[in-house]
Amino acid sequence: MQREAAVDRHATWCQGNSMTKPIRCLLTAGPTREHLDPVRFLSNGSSGRMGYALAEAGLARGWEVDLVSGPVAITAAMGVNVHRVVSAQEMFEACERLFPKCDIFIGVAAVADFRPKVIEVHKIKKAEAVPMLELEPTVDILKTLAGRKMPTQRAVGFAAETREVELYARRKLAEKNLDWIVANDVGRAGIGMEAADNAVIMIGRGGERAVFGPAPKRAVAEFILDKIAVR
Ligand code: C5P
Repeated sequence: MQREAAVDRHATWCQGNSMTKPIRCLLTAGPTREHLDPVRFLSNGSSGRMGYALAEAGLARGWEVDLVSGPVAITAAMGVNVHRVVSAQEMFEACERLFPKCDIFIGVAAVADFRPKVIEVHKIKKAEAVPMLELEPTVDILKTLAGRKMPTQRAVGFAAETREVELYARRKLAEKNLDWIVANDVGRAGIGMEAADNAVIMIGRGGERAVFGPAPKRAVAEFILDKIAVR
């Protein structure tokens, strides 16, 4: 039954018929926070802007957009279904719930790769010696869900690298069973994770390669959605 519904959605998509069901897009965005005690956490500087720009661009196309977002300082466009989470585990659980009914899953979030093995109930006192942090890996949300996708679902990932951008991106495309990977060089000044602009190389599983930017993240979002929606 679920499979039939997905095939039906795919047919609709191919016909481009605006009278039928809209494309459902699931996005992750922003950083995650991995707490070690109630006030301290491991995280990164992701602003969430690329994911939020994609959500807005999808919405403008008439898509139904679910945005699972880590803690960020920006607000989503009205009409986007925002699901706020803090940790990688919470992000995974929200995505796992929403994934079966999405047509496109785009993992934009800068998910923490490791988390403290233990979260202290109370704030660690600095007088009690320097704590030794034992870390464990978080779940790879994109890889796990892309591994479960139906033939009609598409999965898109981001690869933020500071060197060998394309090589690592191609590796990720295969390892995570993706349809597209969006690679960006976060080592370049003024573009990438915390910036307003981005420059990307998109690589498709069929060997396609497209380059765009530097440009404002909303323009980059339009470019990305154009590419994804063609195939
Ligand atoms: O392996 P790496 O972290 O470089 O892969 C980046 C891509 O995988 C991004 O699309 C990111 O959103 C996603 N990812 C994820 N869960 C993780 C780590 C990365 O969904 N734990």
